[in-house]
Amino acid sequence: MTKAMEATGSNPFDNGIAQLAKAAKVIDLKPAYFDLFTQPMELMEVSIPVHMDNGKLKIFTGYRAHFNTFMGPAKGGIRYHWNVSRDEVKALAFWMSWKCTVINIPYGGGKGGIIVNPKELSKGELERLSRAYIDKLVDFIGPDRDIPAPDVYTDGQIMAWMLDEFEKLHRGSYPAFITGKPLELGGSAGRGTSTAQGGYYCFETALRELGLANPTLAVQGFGNAGMFIAKICHDHGFKVVAVSDSKGGIHDSNGLNIPEVIAFKEKKGSVVGFGKAKKISNEELLELPVDVLFPCALENQITKANAAKVKAKLIVELANGPTTPEADEILHKKGTVVVPDILANSGGVYVSYLEWVQNRMGFYWTQDYVFDLLKKQINNSFKDIWAVKKEHKIDMRTAAYVYALQKMRKAAELRGY
Ligand code: GLU
Repeated sequence: MTKAMEATGSNPFDNGIAQLAKAAKVIDLKPAYFDLFTQPMELMEVSIPVHMDNGKLKIFTGYRAHFNTFMGPAKGGIRYHWNVSRDEVKALAFWMSWKCTVINIPYGGGKGGIIVNPKELSKGELERLSRAYIDKLVDFIGPDRDIPAPDVYTDGQIMAWMLDEFEKLHRGSYPAFITGKPLELGGSAGRGTSTAQGGYYCFETALRELGLANPTLAVQGFGNAGMFIAKICHDHGFKVVAVSDSKGGIHDSNGLNIPEVIAFKEKKGSVVGFGKAKKISNEELLELPVDVLFPCALENQITKANAAKVKAKLIVELANGPTTPEADEILHKKGTVVVPDILANSGGVYVSYLEWVQNRMGFYWTQDYVFDLLKKQINNSFKDIWAVKKEHKIDMRTAAYVYALQKMRKAAELRGY
């Protein structure tokens, strides 16, 4: 276990397996299928030597995992974080396989990570690290095998270096090898805000289902998912009363002016210190008296230690794995509805899929067209999963796994497993 896992007593991969086990029971899944679906198909660990600016050689450790690639190549982001571990990458790749199935795109699960604090690296060091990671994984990835994308602390620039490295090694043009690219290199319109956009569609539908009017919102995390969901909700007239980032949070019960908070964060590097808002901790944010909570940071935020104190009636998970299985039980008993990560944040990978499709045909769509497709796709999955939830009287996460598990089982069966 890493320090982060020890702190919460929770291993994300064990959590993923526990989530699937609940759904497996509902459909009486054969144990052999359960074993098949919970083992990585491939798991790579690589050492990545990088010449640092001070002339010394530093060796980083990286991973890439593939899960359940019955319906297509592996798909998923690459994370740069000091708490990356083998089990975290396995959990994230495992979740990607269910996420892609939930949102009905022809991919299996993939995820990669490097143990590094990217904030401590110069731009040149970051570039050499990103290129060296691709050098090490070159036989493991590709447009028909495993398609990477951004994740925590990786972005379009890093995707651009990785694309360039891959194309140098293969002596050709392969834009569909990686998604989340800058527009100039074949990125898709709308990809940058698509995780939040998809989360917003889920939030809108859930509000209608629950009959929640004029809700107050709190957003944990202010990166690619958190910042944009706060902005989109604010732009639609919703009251966002609290936001946070890795340095802490801010709260104003009258509502925060999100565009101003974004401008402040861009200048100061954190939301903390903004205007007259009260400073709060990330833990306090989760327990605020709000109607809707958006966890948009990391795993294991809502645990058995704080789940009973969560007051929100609706949780929309834009992070991967923010709620532990024990916390799920507590929330379900209280009647809190959790729109699970594998549906709520699937907008990111869905638009990555549209990027891959556009790259392969060499024809590009407008953002309106992309979001139109996203809205239809995510609303359809939401509706189907909501029906499974009602039919079996189960929580929405288990319903999402039941929905995906049936498809995965069929695909594996057709392949002769
Ligand atoms: N890293 C994102 C996720 O966890 C996006 C993955 C992708 O676009 O492939 O869903």
